[in-house]
Order: sequence, then structure tokens, then C-alpha cells
Amino acid sequence: MLDEAGYEKLRLDMVARQIKGRGINDPKTLAALSVVPRHLFVPERYRPESYEDHPLPIGFGQTISQPYMVALMTAALALKGSEKVLEVGTGSGYQAALIAFIGCSVVSIERNPDLARKARLNLASAGYGEAVTVIEGDGTLGLPAKAPFDAIIVTAGAPKISEELKAELRGDGGVLVMPVGGLGLQELLVVTRQGRDFHTQNLGSCRFVPLVGRDGW
Ligand code: SAM
Repeated sequence: MLDEAGYEKLRLDMVARQIKGRGINDPKTLAALSVVPRHLFVPERYRPESYEDHPLPIGFGQTISQPYMVALMTAALALKGSEKVLEVGTGSGYQAALIAFIGCSVVSIERNPDLARKARLNLASAGYGEAVTVIEGDGTLGLPAKAPFDAIIVTAGAPKISEELKAELRGDGGVLVMPVGGLGLQELLVVTRQGRDFHTQNLGSCRFVPLVGRDGW
């Protein structure tokens, strides 16, 4: 079993090789991945693999995403540190913790109540219990009561871009990052809103578990 210093060494090595080494240079993203203890978001038996270059099971057929994919999505949000952010797909809570580390307030929606409960415990044990609110429900419905959001991140693969979520973006530069495509393979899309105009950028192929719900699978 590794101690905290051992995990920190693995974490910094992960950032150097898998994240910086693949061209992600956003300082806030790099700082967050260097500090947030990913091993506290992973089931105990997988902890030694926490900082390896692949997703890991978190139970209920779900996963904590590959560190590189988490970093790519975080960097795509282009956060300054004071934004109001919505996440759909809390999973382990790790992605939400990174965004909270950057200084944003985060509301995260998870459809599986057991995962939502576990994510709250993970967030509390890592010190982000106050900064992140985890809500149980279908995130494809958005969260109109708390909209607009400066940024929205969807961490499960959707069949189409959500009109609901687009409508909840702040009008002047709100950003939505979401994987869209088939059940096996998706494209990572970044949608930026300017009033009624939406500009879409494709960051390339990715593989996510399905977004299940009214506007999902
Ligand atoms: N962001 C997570 C993390 O940091 O561990 C990883 C998310 S995991 C790849 C996808 C998650 O999305 C699963 O926990 C799944 O239960 C959840 N999910 C799927 N459809 C959903 C929906 N409609 N609303 C909310 N959560 C959903």
C-alpha cells in the first residue's frame, strides 16, 4: 500500500507524461490534476492503478474516466476560477473536485443514487464536500432552477447535442463540453454560445459510457 507521498509522486508523473506530455498546457488544469488526490475517488482495490493511463471501474457498470480525457475536457472549459459550472454524470466525483479546485462552484447531477452517495463521501474525504453539490436525477433535463451556467460538462456519451443544456448556457460565451455520437464511439464537442449563435468545435474521438435519460439513450 502506498503512502500519500508515494501517491503524490505517481500523480506528478502522470501529469508530466500523460497530460503535459500530450500537449495539454492549461495551467489551471495542470495544477488541479497535480493536487487533487485521484486515488481517493477510486475503489480501494484499484487504488494502486489510480494514476495509470486508463479509465477504472467505480461500480454499477460505470467508470472514472482516463486522466488524459478528464484533463482535455477540463481544459476545454477554459475556466478562470469563479464560474458557476454544471456537471452531468458525477460518477466518482473526481471531475467535479478538479473544477472545484480551480475555484468554481459546481453542481453535479448523477442518475444512480448509490453512486451519488459514494461521490459525496469521496468529495468530503478529499476536502471538496462544501464546494460541490451532488444532486440525484436525470441530467439530460438540465437544471433550469439554477441556470444560466458559465460552463456545462457532460461526462457520458449522448446520441445528440442537448438543446436543453445549450439553452442553460450563459449568453455571452457559455461553454458546453460533451461527447456526442454512437454507443461505442463519440466525438468530443465544445459548443460556445454567443446570444443565439452556437459555435461547435470537435476535439476528436472518445469513448464514454452512455448518457441514459430522456434526452440520452
Ligand atoms: N465524471 C465522472 C468522474 O469524474 O468520475 C465520470 C462519469 S462516468 C464516465 C458517467 C456517469 O454518468 C455515470 O456515473 C452514470 O451513472 C452517469 N449518468 C449517465 N446518464 C446520466 C444522466 N442522464 N444524468 C446524470 N448522470 C448520468
